[in-house]
Amino acid sequence: MPGKPIDWIRPEIRELSAYHVADATGMVKLDAMENPYRLPDEVLRQWQQDLLTADLNRYPDPQAGALQQKLKQIMQVPEGQGMVLGNGSDELIQMLALAVAAPGRCILSFEPGFVMYSMISRFTGMNYIGVPLADDFTLDMDKTREAIEQNQPAIIFIAYPNNPTGNLFDADAIGEIIRMAPGLVVIDEAYHPFAFASFMPTLAEYGHLLVMRTVSKMGLAGLRLGYLCGDAELINEVNKVRLPYNINVLTQYSARFILDNAGFLDGQAEMIRSDRDKMLKHMTLLDGVEVFPSQANFILFRLKHADADKVFDSLHDQGVLIKNMNSPGVLHNCLRVTVGTSEENHAFLFALEQALNS
Ligand code: PMP
Repeated sequence: MPGKPIDWIRPEIRELSAYHVADATGMVKLDAMENPYRLPDEVLRQWQQDLLTADLNRYPDPQAGALQQKLKQIMQVPEGQGMVLGNGSDELIQMLALAVAAPGRCILSFEPGFVMYSMISRFTGMNYIGVPLADDFTLDMDKTREAIEQNQPAIIFIAYPNNPTGNLFDADAIGEIIRMAPGLVVIDEAYHPFAFASFMPTLAEYGHLLVMRTVSKMGLAGLRLGYLCGDAELINEVNKVRLPYNINVLTQYSARFILDNAGFLDGQAEMIRSDRDKMLKHMTLLDGVEVFPSQANFILFRLKHADADKVFDSLHDQGVLIKNMNSPGVLHNCLRVTVGTSEENHAFLFALEQALNS
């Protein structure tokens, strides 16, 4: 019997470090792939007015039916497909893992990749298989085929575009993975607003394919709302592990209102894409910086001569917060910057040049 209270915590949980979020007070915040733009004034005013009618004394609609209908229509979810909503797509990953978890089962994804796939595998007592990407961050199909055959994963997560590398994997290679997968395949399209590619239109072709998206990167990270689409019968099962009322009243109201007035979001995404391309161009010209192509709202880059930890610290001292990805292996000496407003991007580029020249 465990002695101390803490001994009751499973060893694999005690080994984990909690997901770290850096303090961004007073900083130019380019670390978390947020949209830098706020709601336009007029939309903000109407939204506040609309919220006056929200019934805070009542539980929210448990299925968030009206919001689901709106999302299906605006996001062009094919007719007849099911949908379940999560408190951010993080919660959907957790729901999927809870729904399939059983001794000996595993989740498979790619490394470097989004850290929550492996963390949630651990939370739910599942094994995690991280298949290494090739050095240019494309899918290594030999390794992928072998890992799928050997491990028979219950779920394969494919981020499209990938975080933290920013690239879109080859669609034909993903097609092959979908066809050979023994279990579920989830295409995580968190960065969809910045990439002209999606598996949403192909959903009806495969009963085991799911497409997951979030409103976070398109400008509504504070609402915490993700959606998972796919075969209605399968979604119905995933829905059973969802806690009741997971999408709160304010989020349901706000998301419905904003989606009804969503024109400005496309304009913001377009600005971010155009600023991303300008930033990529600028960074490519910097001596000693290797820049990786991006179809997302962030850029991964490697410092060829300077030390990434020191450059990260120097940027921090200059008031610019980005993400330090430096770790042994393919992300050696790498940093990741989110595309912000033009002013923020200039502040970052100026600070980076200062750091490299110091
Ligand atoms: N998927 C990917 C690939 C991500 O990078 C992120 C956030 N960084 C998420 C999902 C989670 O997004 P959210 O929980 O905000 O919906």
